[in-house]
Amino acid sequence: MAMEIKKVAVVGAGDMGHGIAELFAVNGYEVKLMDKFPAMLDKAKARIGASLDKLVEKGKLSKDDSDSARSRLAFFSDMGEAVSDADLVVEAVPESLELKRSIFKEASSHAPKDAILASNTSNIRITDLGEATSRPGQVVGFHFFNPPMLMKLVEVIPGSKTEPAVVDVMEAVGERLGRTVVKVLKDSPGFIVNRINAADTLLFCLILDKGIATPAEVDNFARGQGLPMGPYELLDFVGVDIGADSLAYFSQALSSDYGKGTTFARMVKEGNLGKKTGKGFYDWSTGRAQIPKVPATDKVSLMDIFALEINESVKMIEEGVARPEDIEKGVTLGMNRPFGPITVAKDLSNAEVKGKLEELAARFECNIFAPTRSIAEGKLRDAIEGRLSPPAPGAQVTHAAAPPAPAQEPPTEAEPIRLERLEGGVARILISRPRLNLINASVLDGLDRIVSELSNDPDVRVVLVSGEGKVFSAGADLSQFYNNSVAFMEFARKGARTLRRLSDMPKLTIAVLKEYALGGGLELALACDLRVATEDVEIGFPELTRGLVPAWSGSQRLPQLLGLSRANSLILTSERIDGKRAYEMGLVNRLLSQGDPDDAAAKYGAELASSQAPVSTMLAKKLLNRGSEVPSDVGLEMEAMAAGILFGTEDLREGISAFLGKRKPEFKGK
Ligand code: NAD
Repeated sequence: MAMEIKKVAVVGAGDMGHGIAELFAVNGYEVKLMDKFPAMLDKAKARIGASLDKLVEKGKLSKDDSDSARSRLAFFSDMGEAVSDADLVVEAVPESLELKRSIFKEASSHAPKDAILASNTSNIRITDLGEATSRPGQVVGFHFFNPPMLMKLVEVIPGSKTEPAVVDVMEAVGERLGRTVVKVLKDSPGFIVNRINAADTLLFCLILDKGIATPAEVDNFARGQGLPMGPYELLDFVGVDIGADSLAYFSQALSSDYGKGTTFARMVKEGNLGKKTGKGFYDWSTGRAQIPKVPATDKVSLMDIFALEINESVKMIEEGVARPEDIEKGVTLGMNRPFGPITVAKDLSNAEVKGKLEELAARFECNIFAPTRSIAEGKLRDAIEGRLSPPAPGAQVTHAAAPPAPAQEPPTEAEPIRLERLEGGVARILISRPRLNLINASVLDGLDRIVSELSNDPDVRVVLVSGEGKVFSAGADLSQFYNNSVAFMEFARKGARTLRRLSDMPKLTIAVLKEYALGGGLELALACDLRVATEDVEIGFPELTRGLVPAWSGSQRLPQLLGLSRANSLILTSERIDGKRAYEMGLVNRLLSQGDPDDAAAKYGAELASSQAPVSTMLAKKLLNRGSEVPSDVGLEMEAMAAGILFGTEDLREGISAFLGKRKPEFKGK
């Protein structure tokens, strides 16, 4: 087998082949570019020439280097001549298994015995190509991205019989070409990047099949999220046939579910392939997509796409196809993203990803969207941190048949938030993260779960929200968000959503502020009905000193509570105040006496739990929280209706009778 590669033959001189040939030539290899059609060779020659000129013009290549690259390139229309002295053959003919197998067979019969035969296939299993040759040990996948001169990634894929030394040689070649090499561990359709892509493509096809949104509504949504191009515009750009063909291949190579979509295949039949035919999802007659100016859809979220990509990533990890770090690298470089699915998964909880996947699988009646085994079993974190045990050699890994999820997902880390039930109808929610009780996605998930549980618990009347140990909470945990603006935006939405649920809870909620209540921690406190505090607790919004804004509804709740002027001084100057000052401003409702603040708050909570009628509390909260959101006549009507509802309750009779009898009422919440 050729250990040192000097002479390269590239078969197929189309979009990819001409770029691959240029890349090899620029990096010092002798290149023979072969195409069955002379016209394609002429076109390739012109494209390479224009590209080299541009590199010189931009100062990226010297004139001498450009000339020598040109001198290292030769063009052939005969396979035998092109590959007869090659150390490496790179195939880049159209994506058809039959065609590629015939090319591999032919190349194998003409190339020197020790030559390596590589394919630039997007999806096809390398093993299936190796089998067409007499040398499957020397057949390997070498997958570039379009355009090869610019895209920095190359995936190296072994077939089931490929010798490890061949993979090593190709890794060295990829590095000499200045590419980042990602080694795929095991042959599998679409390898890493296109496996992720295929799930997205299927989703976009099913969205149209089911009439959930139009291409323009989705693309306008995607652009609104900061993407340079929406998914349908991109599909039009690369060719709807490419998307349809890849789904067809996946449907027979991986799961018949990929064949569920119908719209793309229909468009191909009708000849609407996108930019190249002038019409696809959009009209391209002017050379650019004419995207109707319609409102962005709210039926599709980034979380849909993230969840599918995380699911496919975990499947690849389970199957031993790729390591998490290689998936991350592959998607980032291959799809031109600022971050990949592993980074996104780090910011999400297992429950969140699992829930979203279950929803997608049901909504699109598609099994491959269902959570894969590790996610169903609560082991997302183990998977993305590389702690899953590798599959037994030769083991078939199944996904669709994941066992039913256990009722409670097993904790894989210490619970970051917990619930205590105290005496006298009081419950306490405790954020429990080392030192500062910083709030991350898992805390928000746990809070959401606890809010649901307590909302339906008739024995609980007052809910205290506090932090384990000395600190209430010093804010949101932002440590995982560097360079990750889209995931950060989702984290902001999630925080606001969770706090809204807390403030809507039909129980009296009290935040117990101690040592620090800052940023996201203070926003959590603002979502409670009351705030009790130690005199010396530090309260403030440091967001603007860090280049942020309060993003969990703090910028909206604070002016409502304190008026604009006081909210301005807290948010715009990031002034820190102590509990005493906060009490004077009305931000804190009660100061806690010396001693353990949680004990004092529990006592206060129990007093309120016994003195305040539960149904009245629930209705009064609605009136107070929602009154400002409706016109005053509607608010007054709501008030009258609440009074009417209360008139029929046992608690009203008990309240009046206790008042008249000069005794303590015993409310039943009925
Ligand atoms: P293309 O259609 O632009 O080019 C294919 C070339 O192969 C054409 O020039 C054609 O004349 C030639 N050809 C056809 N039959 C031949 C034969 N029997 N012998 C020699 N040459 C023959 O296709 P492309 O976009 O360059 O894709 C080539 C391969 O690269 C495919 O497997 C594709 O999946 C893969 N790929 C494409 C992209 C992309 O974005 N275009 C990205 C990565 C990988």
